[in-house]
Amino acid sequence: MSSQNVVAKKRFGQNFLKDERILREIIEAMPENANKIAEIGPGLGDLTNYLVDVKSVVAFEVDTDLCKHIETRFYDAINTSHLTLHCGDVLERWQSTLLDEPYDLVANLPYYIATNIILRALADTQCENMLVMVQREVALKFAAEPGEKNFGALGVIAQSVAEVQVVVDVPPHSFEPPPKVDSAVLLIRKHADRDDEAFEQFLRTAFTQPRKTLYKNLSVYYEKEKVKAALEQLGLASSIRPHQLATRDYHQLYNIL
Ligand code: SAM
Repeated sequence: MSSQNVVAKKRFGQNFLKDERILREIIEAMPENANKIAEIGPGLGDLTNYLVDVKSVVAFEVDTDLCKHIETRFYDAINTSHLTLHCGDVLERWQSTLLDEPYDLVANLPYYIATNIILRALADTQCENMLVMVQREVALKFAAEPGEKNFGALGVIAQSVAEVQVVVDVPPHSFEPPPKVDSAVLLIRKHADRDDEAFEQFLRTAFTQPRKTLYKNLSVYYEKEKVKAALEQLGLASSIRPHQLATRDYHQLYNIL
């Protein structure tokens, strides 16, 4: 099957990256290390083609038509083990770790599961770095600093264990077919394994109603007096809103409560 015959399948979030400048920027932004690369959704293989030149790649593709295309296009790379291809849904395959050795995730992610994938990779002890194309709105949530309007649970979760930065904004016309939204490449460099489930639950409670006060949100779950005392102990006003706290404050508050 040649790439000319491929009809993009919306249900798999297929928007193929065709912009050579962005492809090169992704390769230039890759962390320098000896890690394998996991690529979720190689699609037609344009990003894969750059990746196999510099690293050993393990790719996961759900679409059987595209799997056949990749097998043909990368016949040599597969035979020389520069590329390993797994056909099927990556989420079904992904247990606690995606690979059983340290890896970096580099991918133009299917947007309908992008947040889910990033959260899994943050929790995956073998994943050390991520360089991922996502919807711009999602990138801004992960990268937002305390006090910014996009700052929320995703920012706290990611920044508790990683440095997060937006590498480049990507307009819709860089893809075929163009998506309806703007995109961005996000670099997430982990420095620790993700915190436990209980901390995540705590953050979800803190951001239940982002416009309400933190005191009000936390009081649904914790005793009011305890919340008040914890805020006082940290020198935080009871009128403070969830997005106004720093990541460090959340960890301290969680430990106290
Ligand atoms: N990497 C290609 C590129 O940059 O042009 C394609 C990116 S496209 C946005 C997303 C890719 O992820 C598609 O190839 C799609 O079939 C694949 N995909 C979607 N859902 C998947 C899943 N659950 N598991 C594995 N691959 C998936």
